[in-house]
Amino acid sequence: MLLAMKVFISVDMEGISGLVRWADVVTQGIDFARNRRLMTLDANAAIEGAFDGGATDVVVEENHGVEDLCDLLIDEVDPRCRVVRGAGRPGATTMAALDADTGVVLLIGHHARAGSRPGIMAHTISYQKFRSVRVNDEDCGEPEIFTIRAGELGVPVGMLSGDQVANEQLSKRAPWAESVIVKTALSNVAGNVIPPVRARELIRAGAKRAVERARGGELQPYRDESAPYAIEVGMREPISDGLRQNLESLEEFEIVDDLTVRTLADDMDLGFRRIAYLGFGDRPGLTRY
Ligand SMILES: [Zn+2]
Repeated sequence: MLLAMKVFISVDMEGISGLVRWADVVTQGIDFARNRRLMTLDANAAIEGAFDGGATDVVVEENHGVEDLCDLLIDEVDPRCRVVRGAGRPGATTMAALDADTGVVLLIGHHARAGSRPGIMAHTISYQKFRSVRVNDEDCGEPEIFTIRAGELGVPVGMLSGDQVANEQLSKRAPWAESVIVKTALSNVAGNVIPPVRARELIRAGAKRAVERARGGELQPYRDESAPYAIEVGMREPISDGLRQNLESLEEFEIVDDLTVRTLADDMDLGFRRIAYLGFGDRPGLTRY
C-alpha cells in the first residue's frame, strides 16, 4: 500500500548554503545569478531527499521577496515537483500551497528572526521595515510563523536548513525537526560555511530523514500557541502618514506608538497577512491585504 505523502518545501534565500551577505540575495548583487543557482541546487537536494524518504508529491513554494518571488532557476528545478512562484498569491503570500493534506513541511534556506545577533541576514518578513515581530509576547521569526500555521492545519515542520541560530530558534517550537546547519553565523553578515557541494548532501539526507519520520508518525504538529495571537510589530522608522491613515480606518489594527502596531489574529494565515501589510500599506487608500 502506498500512502500519499505530500511534502511542502518552502525555499528562502538567506539561509542557502554558502551565502552570508545581503549583496548575495538581492538583484543588484554581482553574484545574484550564481546564487540563484545555489538556491535551486539546495532546493533540488531537498526534493531528492523528500522523494528518497517516500514523498509521493512535492510542492516547492518560493519564499524570497525579491524578483516578485521568482528566484529559482525554474528550468533547473527537479521535474518531479511543482513550484508556486510569483507575487499576489491568495492568502499568506509564502504559504499558498500549504494545506491540511500536507504531510510535512521542510524549510530550506531559512534564516533567524529579526533582532538575532548573530544570525545570517536575520530578519522577519521585511528587513527594511521591521525591527521586531512578536507573537504572544515572544520574538517570532518566519520559521516559527510557518510552524504555527502548519500546526493549525495539523501539519508538522520536519526540517530546517540554514544557520545554527535559525535552527535553535525553530527547535523551541519544533524540537522534533531535523536541524541541517549549513553555516555557522559569526555575525549578521559573516559565517563559517560548509561549501555548498557538501552542504547539499546534508540537506538531502536531512530531508530524507524528515519525510521518513513523518511517515512513521514521529513528527508532531505544533499546537501550543494560544489563539487569538497577540501580534506586535516594531517598525524601524516612525509609521508614515499614509500607513497611519490606513491603519486608523482598519479596526483590527491598534497603533500603540509611532513605532509599534498591534493586532489580534485568530489564525496565522491572517496574522501573516497583517504583518506583511504593515510592510507595504503606506499608500493612502491601500487597505486590502
Ligand atoms: Zn528571503
